Amino acid sequence: METLYRKYRPQLWEDLTGQDHVKLTLEKALILNKLAHAFLFAGPKGSGKTSSARLLAKALNCKKRASESAEPCNTCSSCQEITLSRSLDVLEIDAASNTGVDNVRENIIDTARLSPTKSKHKIFIIDEVHMLSASAFNALLKIIEEPPIHVFFILATTEPFKIPPTILSRCQRFDFKKVDLAKIKEKLKKICAQEKIEIESKVLERIAHQSDGCLRDAENLLGQILALGEKKITEKEASLVLPRSNWKEIFSFLEHLVNREAGPAVILINQLMEDGIDLFHFMEDLISAARYLLLTKLNTNLSFIAEELEEEELKKLGSLASKIEAGLLGKMIETFIKQKSFLRSTHIPQLPIEVAIVEICYSGAPAITLKEEFSPTPTSKSYGYPPEKKVIPKKEEEKTNPTQTVKEKKTELKTAEILAVEAESVDLPPANITFETVKEKWEIFLKKVQEYNHSLPFILKMGEPQDLRGKILRISFRYTFHKDKINEHKIKVIAEKALNDVLGGNLTIEGVYNPEKNNAVEEIDKPLEKADNGLVSSLIESFGGQLAE
Ligand SMILES: [Zn+2]
Repeated sequence: METLYRKYRPQLWEDLTGQDHVKLTLEKALILNKLAHAFLFAGPKGSGKTSSARLLAKALNCKKRASESAEPCNTCSSCQEITLSRSLDVLEIDAASNTGVDNVRENIIDTARLSPTKSKHKIFIIDEVHMLSASAFNALLKIIEEPPIHVFFILATTEPFKIPPTILSRCQRFDFKKVDLAKIKEKLKKICAQEKIEIESKVLERIAHQSDGCLRDAENLLGQILALGEKKITEKEASLVLPRSNWKEIFSFLEHLVNREAGPAVILINQLMEDGIDLFHFMEDLISAARYLLLTKLNTNLSFIAEELEEEELKKLGSLASKIEAGLLGKMIETFIKQKSFLRSTHIPQLPIEVAIVEICYSGAPAITLKEEFSPTPTSKSYGYPPEKKVIPKKEEEKTNPTQTVKEKKTELKTAEILAVEAESVDLPPANITFETVKEKWEIFLKKVQEYNHSLPFILKMGEPQDLRGKILRISFRYTFHKDKINEHKIKVIAEKALNDVLGGNLTIEGVYNPEKNNAVEEIDKPLEKADNGLVSSLIESFGGQLAE
């Protein structure tokens, strides 16, 4: 099947999408018959460089072009031959596969010296010209410096900075830009009309967005959707081809950040990686979502947000907007944009997102030790995100009373710190589940796991329950291999399901490495069960402070 890109390649200047600055200059030069003999078309892929080169060649060789017009007739033999790529006088050379000097000599220099076969001019379109070797460029330079009168060169490249200055200085340069989304959408709409396909505007929007200014990519995506053979295309059909937007995951992710839950946010990103999401696309959508959040926060009531998102996501947007300051949101977006630029430069693809999470969740948090006064305002100069979740601002302090039991302990803890611990109690398991129950039911749990997965009990037998921290059951392993295995998302989900089936709770599992697990178990779980020691040690752990004597 002919690709849409070929089928709808512009045959007239007026059909060329975008690049108005290029179009206007070339049209004028054609009409005035004042053309350079060498052109450089530079710009991103799919922006219309080759299409423009062919249009220029056509206009130059057209036998019927009106003197006051730049448009080729598309009916004369020359125009038709160019349309079909059969013209003997318009030679398209892919420099990527003809990089050597011999190729340039044979295919370009020798041919250029011969007169045109049937047309007025001999035109060389050299695509990806930056791929030529240094000696090939030198050979080319000689003929570009003094071209035979009937010869034109059109060099096209996505990487103009790789072209020797000697060549650049001989060419009239045109810089092509990414095609803007509205123009891509318009072109796709025209194609659909001609193909007699009814298509939802939202789908065209998504294709345009996905193609990132590359019309060829957009046309190829549309082609894949049309190949499904449907006469009416809604988002449902399109989703078979287009990568879906991860709005649901993106909003969960944003929620973690707004709540300053770094751990769950990192876990989510790693799960999504396992599911094979495109991180770049995810980051772009994340930035869009954060912008929607900002616009919602500012009460702009811009209607396009409602067009982009579903009911459920709009609700989420409203609730998140009420929880975060506009200024902080701005900083959050800034962090995303900064980290996005590192996405393709690290060997761990998700690392820039993880760094963004840390910057957002931790930066600006006061470095509290137990000796210090609690301060609700961030002390750090850098970011100004609100203090970490565990520290409750004063407003709320007034609303809540510290519990009697903690007061009786007569520790040195200050109200805010006690409240911080209370805030953590939200994450506690149901009262009937203690670490003891877990240990008692361990064997039953292992049997239950076997129902879901045969090999999983073998791994679990390599470990032992270590302690219960809030809702997190930590299982210690002597070998990192087993620990890593248990922490794999898919495995963990199964183990957690079995565990909660047995205990009737909502526990999560975390594998930890502990080379001396047998001794460690008793020592670690006891202090945690005692309220005072547990309280202090978990505070120290959270804030990294030390106990005041
Ligand atoms: Zn013609």
